[in-house]
Amino acid sequence: MLDGPRFWDDVQALATIGALDPKGIRRLALDTQDNHARLWLAEQGRSLGCQVYFDALGNLFLRREGQDDSLAPLLIGSHMDSQPLAGAHDGALGVLAGLAVLRTLQEQSIEHQRPLEIVSWTNEEGARFAPGASGSSWFAGQREYDDIVAALDDNGVRFGDALQECLMLLEGKGLVYRPAPFVPHAFLELHIEQGPVLEQLGKPVGVVSGIQGVNWYRIEVEGVANHAGTTPRQARRDAFDGAHELVSAMKAGIREQDDDLRFTIGRFSLWPDAVNTIAQRATFTIDLRHPDQQVLDALDSRFHALAEQEWSGCAVSLEATSRVAPVAFSEHLLAVLRESAGSVCARAPELLSGAFHDAIHLAHVCPTAMLFTPCRAGISHHPDEHIERQDAVISARVLAEAALRVLG
Ligand SMILES: [Zn+2]
Repeated sequence: MLDGPRFWDDVQALATIGALDPKGIRRLALDTQDNHARLWLAEQGRSLGCQVYFDALGNLFLRREGQDDSLAPLLIGSHMDSQPLAGAHDGALGVLAGLAVLRTLQEQSIEHQRPLEIVSWTNEEGARFAPGASGSSWFAGQREYDDIVAALDDNGVRFGDALQECLMLLEGKGLVYRPAPFVPHAFLELHIEQGPVLEQLGKPVGVVSGIQGVNWYRIEVEGVANHAGTTPRQARRDAFDGAHELVSAMKAGIREQDDDLRFTIGRFSLWPDAVNTIAQRATFTIDLRHPDQQVLDALDSRFHALAEQEWSGCAVSLEATSRVAPVAFSEHLLAVLRESAGSVCARAPELLSGAFHDAIHLAHVCPTAMLFTPCRAGISHHPDEHIERQDAVISARVLAEAALRVLG
């Protein structure tokens, strides 16, 4: 049985690293606090008698041997870096739940076939160095090392330089360097939901069936700037009007879609941005999400076709700036998680993740699945983020139960 109070002590202990006054945390990737968190986790692993490794991206691994060490390990984990003004549980909870599983096996001398490794991935948030999920995407062969280390933070510090400092620190503590990624047997990640569903259902844990795919677009609508008062209607080529019409046409096409579709314009700007001048240029972004690649592809074609047309006499240019395919998690692991939840509490609801997680990358190399635990009002990336201790403990127990089934 996983020791709930001991797990919660770990949650409190890690939350002191980078703690903000009066609440919240700040552990930007590879900063002093984030590195401190690594050392804390390494220390927990060592005191449990585990082997502690780090790799070329500063991902940290705590390993417990199995009865057959030739088998690929079960990997469990998440991330410990945070947004600039964050709560203590986004990412951290998943690493600590993994640590709690490790503690349970070690302290209760539970034997298993496969090795178990707990991992903390580097720079999931992408708050200091964009894009995020650096450690997991590199590990899973989805991004190149050279591209990752070239990223600069707001102060002009190179990811590669911050990483070197971190690696030297870990090396100085006598941790073992393991340069190359390996192929795990499976990957499990527990994370706070960052949405309201589980709280509304009153459930302590949910099984995550997959992660939505995301397309990002940048759109420019080009009109003609002119005097706001003297230009008659038929002579106006108003970029705002063009953008408004175009967006209406885009949304008209998606209104009939299911509730899984997410269409967000998070940025919108006009130029020259003057109160009495017709806008010459409207620039905006679209964040489009759906669990089904076919739906995303159909909308992608539709958006491109609409951008070929003129809107209020304005030309449009549309650029797809990012595409991440949706991921459906391993059916086998989902079944394991369902059964595990059934044996620990009751039937766990199934839901889809609207946010990225490290698991989206791991799913490319090994069977992967996730658990969610509720957070109050769905709030995250904010010091008001809050979870209930009993929910977290139940979720960690479901994770432990699942781990035992996979470890054999
Ligand atoms: Zn996270």
